[in-house]
Amino acid sequence: MTVLHPCIKDGWFYEKNEMWPGQALGIEVKQVLHHEKSKYQDVLVFESTHYGNVLVLDNVIQLSERDEFSYQEMITHLAMNSHPDPKKVLVIGGGDGGVLREVVKHEGVEEVHIVEIDEAVPRISRKYLPKMAVGFDHPKVKLFIMDGFEFLKDKVSAYDVVITDSSDPDGPAESLFQNEFFQILNTALTPNGVFSTQAECMWLYIDDIRKALDFNRTLYPQVRYAYSCVPSYPCGQIGHIVCSKNADVDLTKPLRRWTPEEEATLFKYYSADMHQAAFVMPQFAKKTLFM
Ligand code: SAM
Repeated sequence: MTVLHPCIKDGWFYEKNEMWPGQALGIEVKQVLHHEKSKYQDVLVFESTHYGNVLVLDNVIQLSERDEFSYQEMITHLAMNSHPDPKKVLVIGGGDGGVLREVVKHEGVEEVHIVEIDEAVPRISRKYLPKMAVGFDHPKVKLFIMDGFEFLKDKVSAYDVVITDSSDPDGPAESLFQNEFFQILNTALTPNGVFSTQAECMWLYIDDIRKALDFNRTLYPQVRYAYSCVPSYPCGQIGHIVCSKNADVDLTKPLRRWTPEEEATLFKYYSADMHQAAFVMPQFAKKTLFM
């Protein structure tokens, strides 16, 4: 019997991982579409019975066609709508292209740089995740294939918004969760700059989230934590740390907004109401993260 992938057993993909001990999401597999060992990670794409195509890096689900919009829209627009007029935007990671697809919905944006460490991810996403990879085709977008940490080292006041759409801290994304990275990112932002990052799940990483919030509180006058519902992520949700250099901004209320009709056309998850709701925390999280 051919072993399709170590995480696929009896026609199901199981996301067993020591980062979330004692639990594992299972997704039924229709067929494996692609599997390779890239320079940085194990890359798997499979077609599922109920979640569309699914991208997996080092055995961790990155996204599924069924629910990627919730995460891509929130990590992007929580940040973009917290800046008065973002012109130059940087995406770190995001090799599937979904965040790019969202950033260019803001018509005032002039330039979007994306720095992705692994050429395999955009290459494979173009073939198997076209609804996300469409982001790479926009004329305002420029792709750099290198480590986001290295890329940022020589940037000063270069970007109005930086969105870190990285995989989890183990593997190539480890450097993107260090205090030194947060420091050089702060330098790379313009005076009203806004930063949002994939900030893990409060059910699994609440102490690490607190540490990251506390460090960013030394760099920014405004630091908040929000979350969105993503069925294919561990515990069905993911967090976003959002920071602004502008002391007067209230990150929980969008500075700019579309009309409800425009929101219904442009998005499947984000709205001004969801923007505000995303920052409302359950008691256990409020106590641990903000008191
Ligand atoms: N939405 C997903 C999540 O929340 O887990 C992340 C999606 S995206 C596929 C994550 C990307 O980060 C991957 O393509 C990976 O190659 C990239 N990445 C990891 N470490 C990186 C680094 N140091 N610099 C740039 N890109 C990196």
